[in-house]
Parts: sequence; C-alpha cells; structure tokens
Amino acid sequence: MGPGPSDIPPRVLEAMARPTIGHLDPVFLQLMDGLRDRLRQLFQTKNETRLAMSGTGSAGMETLFVNLVEPGDKVLVCINGVFGNRMADVAQRCGATVEKVEKPWGQVFDQDEVIAAIERVKPNVVAIVHAETSTGAHQPIDRLGAAAHEHGALLLVDCVTSLGGAPVKIDEWQVDAAYSGTQKCLSCPPGLSPVTLSPRAMERMAARKSKVQSWYLDLSMITQYWGSERVYHHTAPINMLYGLDEALNIALEEGLDARFARHRAMHDLLRAGLADLGVHYVSQDGHHLPMLNAVSVPAGIDDAAGRKQLLNDYGI
Ligand SMILES: *Cc1c(COP(=O)(O)O)cnc(C)c1O
Repeated sequence: MGPGPSDIPPRVLEAMARPTIGHLDPVFLQLMDGLRDRLRQLFQTKNETRLAMSGTGSAGMETLFVNLVEPGDKVLVCINGVFGNRMADVAQRCGATVEKVEKPWGQVFDQDEVIAAIERVKPNVVAIVHAETSTGAHQPIDRLGAAAHEHGALLLVDCVTSLGGAPVKIDEWQVDAAYSGTQKCLSCPPGLSPVTLSPRAMERMAARKSKVQSWYLDLSMITQYWGSERVYHHTAPINMLYGLDEALNIALEEGLDARFARHRAMHDLLRAGLADLGVHYVSQDGHHLPMLNAVSVPAGIDDAAGRKQLLNDYGI
C-alpha cells in the first residue's frame, strides 16, 4: 500500500519468467504488435505512435522533451508538486526557455489560468501533470489541448499515475504527447514507460532543425523498431515487455470503466473511514485522485515514527 511500485499479480510475474527470446524473433514481434494494440485502447487514441520506452516513467518524460523541444524553444510548465518541478528541470536541460506557472502543492490549476498563461507566453510546448503523485491532486486537462493548438503549441502530459486508474482520453482531450510508467496503476514492475504521440507531435519532430540530443531516446530511430521496418536500435528488455503485455491483458479483461469505478469506490470508502478518524486529505476538495490518497499527518503524531509504525505493524 504505497504510491508505487504497486503489488504485482502472479500472472505478470509468471509471464516475466518465460524464456528470453530474441528482440527480432517473429514470436516476440507479434507480442509487440499485440501490446501496441492494447496501448491504443488504454490511451484511448488512434495515434499511430504508441510504444513502451526502455526505462522508467522519468525516461518517458525525458523522451518527450528531448524529441519535441529544441534549444531556444519556449516551454510553459505547470508546477504544483514534485513532478511538475522535474519536468521544468528536464526542459531546461534541453535548452528550453522555461516559463513556470505555479500553485501551492495540493491545489489544481483552474484551466482558464493555464489558458491565460498560454496566451501570454505563446510557448512551443505546454507541460502539465495529470495525476500529481506527491500531493494526490487530480488535474483537469480536457480543455488545454484545444487552447494549446489555437496558439500553435503542443500539449505534453504526465499520466504516470493516472493511466489505468482513471480516464486518460488522449484523442478527446487533444493531448499531443503523453508518457506513463508500468509500476503504478498498471501493476507491473518498474522498467518501461508507455508513450504516445499525436500526428501533430510527429510533424513537429520531423521538422526539427537539430538532431535529438539523446541517441538512446531518439524516437525517429525507435519508431522504426516498433513500426513495420523492424530496424534494430537497442536490445528490447524482452522479459519486461512480457510483463507489461500480461498486465495490459489483465487491465483490459477487467475493463477500463470497471477498473476506474473500482478505484473510485475504494477511494470513497477509504476517505469516509479516514474522515471518521479525523485524517484529512492534502489535495484540494473535489480534486482527489481516486487511486492515490495523500493525507496530512494528524496533529500530535510524529511523522517518521508514525509512518514506521504503519509499515512495521500494518504493512502500509
Ligand atoms: C512515479 C512518477 C514519475 C517518475 O516515474 P519513475 O518510474 O519513478 O521514473 C513521474 N511522474 C509522476 C506523476 C510519477 O508518479
């Protein structure tokens, strides 16, 4: 019972224990095609570009920034917790001029505030965290894609903690680039980062004036391995991909709507119980994540000692 890595179902662990075959073996390539199809369903998108980067969620974050940002570009980053800060750091390292809009931790942005910032800053890319794990805040983002496009910007979204636990509607919300991770709501060990990019984002990449600064994360080469060309770039982490494939099977067997409803029902029960104990949420009322519940340490309780007791006595 932590924010990730989540518990792993035995089916996923068993899948990962299968023999390691070659990264160009036809059997493995078939598994990758199936996995891409399941990613389409999970991301609720028609985007052609859907794949799992070799690395954790942060590698997915870095992938999108290094591919979509060129030195001198303006990036608007919304910060209300740990992961917004990390995005600003990564964008800066790409040579971007970073403009920040900030909110106190736990609060969410009113979408109109972000839209006003887009109008003021005129960025090339707008970056925002959908589920801020550090505070449990659930950020509404459904109107930001259209506003970004109106001003020539791309919308880049961190859905590491939301994908598989709450709706992530890439096409309906006009998200251009999104990354996630395997060890949160997909209940798979850490090590892969599912990403998807819109045709608009792929056009931006194709129009780059400079090479992507990272060889390992350069999508122009990696998409040729995941696509029909099957050009070797780096050795895919075979057994991790077995695990993700099975984790996505489990998610889709349950059904996304049923899965979201289950998280919501458990959240409502937990929140009611915590309220009875006088334990309050850190995130803004009306914007609590269903699958990640961040609470304040009650007055009079020592933080470190309290958490140690929860871990040792209750496995929380
Ligand atoms: C966990 C997390 C990340 C980073 O993922 P790693 O797998 O730890 O690299 C990024 N963003 C959010 C919102 C996260 O919860």
